[in-house]
Amino acid sequence: MRPKDAVITEIVSETPSVRTLRFDITFDAVPGQYLMVWVRGVDEIPMSISYSNGITVQKVGEATGAIFDLKVGDSLGVRGPLGNGFALLGERILLVGGGVGAAPLALLGEEAAEKGIEVTTILGIRGCDDLIFRERFEGAGDLVITTDDGSMGICGRASAGLSCLDLEDYDQIYLCGPEPMMADLIGRCGGMEAKIQASIDRYFKCGLGICGSCSIDPEGIRPCVEGPVIRGDRLLGTEFGRYKRGPSGRKR
Ligand SMILES: Cc1cc2nc3c(=O)[nH]c(=O)nc-3n(C[C@H](O)[C@H](O)[C@H](O)COP(=O)(O)OP(=O)(O)OC[C@H]3O[C@@H](n4cnc5c(N)ncnc54)[C@H](O)[C@@H]3O)c2cc1C
Repeated sequence: MRPKDAVITEIVSETPSVRTLRFDITFDAVPGQYLMVWVRGVDEIPMSISYSNGITVQKVGEATGAIFDLKVGDSLGVRGPLGNGFALLGERILLVGGGVGAAPLALLGEEAAEKGIEVTTILGIRGCDDLIFRERFEGAGDLVITTDDGSMGICGRASAGLSCLDLEDYDQIYLCGPEPMMADLIGRCGGMEAKIQASIDRYFKCGLGICGSCSIDPEGIRPCVEGPVIRGDRLLGTEFGRYKRGPSGRKR
């Protein structure tokens, strides 16, 4: 698939380190699907679709830094939508997002609410300045916020938000965030792993299932093509949450 040229029509600053870019292209996407975003002359990186015509980017390194230098009217190359996306199942669902992992979950929550599904969201962030899409989640249902520094909501990690909920009440649990957070949550949902859908955040190099950089031992699950959404029970007994591979293929 050759990249399409996506012209930036709007840039919204969500926090000092997170921006949403809207494009002149609308993607026919399932929430949870992603784009391989080609930042010309720099790199091609995976980004979840956060709006039907947009992505939400946290500045962490070279490619995301270069995206922050772009202006309205500039363009990026995009391949996608790629991957499977979340399967919307049941009548009552729980979304748990960590940091910018809120991006695909906001789209999922909106689609679920439109279909009459009851939505509860836990958003785990470092501090109140990192909160994104509050209105979108509150518009979809109930929102529980946890902060590492206690500046908003419940003080603690995202898992602290589980203390006020009964997981048995939910038909599906959707996770998106840093791998240690998701591994911790899956560990706390003993016996319910089959109703967890986790969006895997690994180093995606090709997005085609060829290079193996995102693969999960021992089965060799390739999240770029078999995911990025993988069911929790499939992650049990794997390397998930223990190590992953960097750009060179080395474990880290
Ligand atoms: C399916 C999928 C969807 C994603 N969706 C989003 C999204 O919606 N918004 C968003 O901001 N980011 C998202 N990411 C993460 C994003 O792809 C990385 O942050 C990006 O590739 C970093 O590129 P860089 O060149 O700026 O950073 P680099 O210069 O490559 O790295 C800078 C630092 O970030 C770390 N890093 C690099 N890649 C990742 C990664 N995948 N996860 C965590 N840390 C990483 C490196 O270890 C390093 O410390 C997604 C990742 C995947 C796999």
